Amino acid sequence: MANKKRAFITGASGQDGSYLAEFLLDKGYEVAGLVRRNAVLDLGNIHEFKNEVKIYYGDLHSPESIAMALLDFKPEEIYNLASLSSPLGSFSDKLGTIMVTGVGAMHVFERAKQIVPKAKIYQASTSEMFGAPKQVPQNEDTPFNPANPYAAAKEFAHRMAVIARNDQTQPQFISCGILFNHESPRRGVNFVTRKISVAVACIKNKRKEGIPLNEIGEPIVQNGKLKLGDLSAKRDWGYAPDYVAMMWMMLQADKPDDFVVATGEVHTVEEFAREAFAVVGLDFKDFVETDPRFVPPVQTGPLCGDASKAKRVLGWEPKTKFKDLVKIMVHADLARFS
Ligand code: NAP
Repeated sequence: MANKKRAFITGASGQDGSYLAEFLLDKGYEVAGLVRRNAVLDLGNIHEFKNEVKIYYGDLHSPESIAMALLDFKPEEIYNLASLSSPLGSFSDKLGTIMVTGVGAMHVFERAKQIVPKAKIYQASTSEMFGAPKQVPQNEDTPFNPANPYAAAKEFAHRMAVIARNDQTQPQFISCGILFNHESPRRGVNFVTRKISVAVACIKNKRKEGIPLNEIGEPIVQNGKLKLGDLSAKRDWGYAPDYVAMMWMMLQADKPDDFVVATGEVHTVEEFAREAFAVVGLDFKDFVETDPRFVPPVQTGPLCGDASKAKRVLGWEPKTKFKDLVKIMVHADLARFS
C-alpha cells in the first residue's frame, strides 16, 4: 500500500481543526494534531474521533513543542489553525493574542523551515484584517487596516508568511486563506452566531440549568433573554466544512498564494437572530436585548468577501446557504440542549 500523506494541524480541537481532521482522514491522510494540554483532556471537538488522530500536546507559546511534533511526525502538509480567535476577547488579552496568534504562527513557519523545509503550510488569515474597509466587497488586493488586537496579530502572521514565501534563499510554500466568518455547531459559544443558536435551543426547550456561559462569564440566557452587542453589524457567514475543503485545495496547488474565502452574501446579526428564532416558531424581538458590554471598542466591517479568485484558480465555491447554516446550527443545539 502506498504511504499515506501526513498532515499536521495546530488547533486541531477547534472548530476548523476538527472538520479539517475529518476531511483529511476521509481522503486517506495520516493526521496529527497539536492540542493544548488542559485540565479536562477531553480534546474538544475531536473527542469523538481522537483515536484516529495522533495527538501531540503542545502550545504555540512553546517553539520546542512544535519542533518535537514536527521532528516526530514529519508532515508533508501543515495547517496552522491555532489561535486565540475572539476579536472582542483580544481587547482584554492583547499580549496573549499577539504571542499566540502572531508570534506563534512565526514559530510554526520557522520550525517547519528547519525541520520539514518542503512541507506545504496553510496559514489561517482572516477578513478581520480588513477592519472597517472602504471597499466592499473585499478581495486579495483590499488594504489591511486591523481594528482589534486579534486582527493585528493575524496581519503580522500573514505578513511573515508572505516574507517566508518570497525569501529568495529558502522560499517556503505558505498559502494564506483570508477566510470570512464561518460557523457551525462546533463554533465556540463566545461567538455571536453560536450564542444565538444556543439561546434559541435553551429558550425553546425551557432549559433552566447547564446553560453555557458567554464571553463575560454569564449564562447565555438569563431571565429568558439573550444579550447581544450591535444588531446592525454586518458579516459574511459561511459554513465551516465548506471552508476547510478550500484550505486543503490551497495546498494542492503548484504554487503558494493568498485567497479570499467567502460567500459574498452579507447579513446583519439581527437577521441571523430573526432566522434562528423563526426556526422554532419564535419572534426574536421577544427574547433579544442589546447590551453595550458586547460591543467592541473599535468596530469592524461591513465585511463581505469577493471569492472570485478562489473560484477562478481553484474551482472553489461555498455550498451551504445562509438559511441552511442557521437551521443546521439551531437543530444541532436543540438536540444538544434538550
Ligand atoms: P477555534 O475554534 O477558536 O480554534 C482555535 C484553536 O486554537 C483551539 O483548538 C485552541 O485550543 C487552539 N489554541 C488556542 N491557543 C493556543 C495555543 N497557545 N497553542 C496551541 N493551540 C492553541 O477557531 P476556529 O474557528 O476553528 O478557527 C481556526 C483558525 O482560523 C483560527 O486561527 C482563527 O483565528 C482563524 N479564522 C477563523 C474564522 C472563523 O470564522 N471561524 C475566520 C477567519 C479566520 P483550545 O481548545 O485549547 O482553546
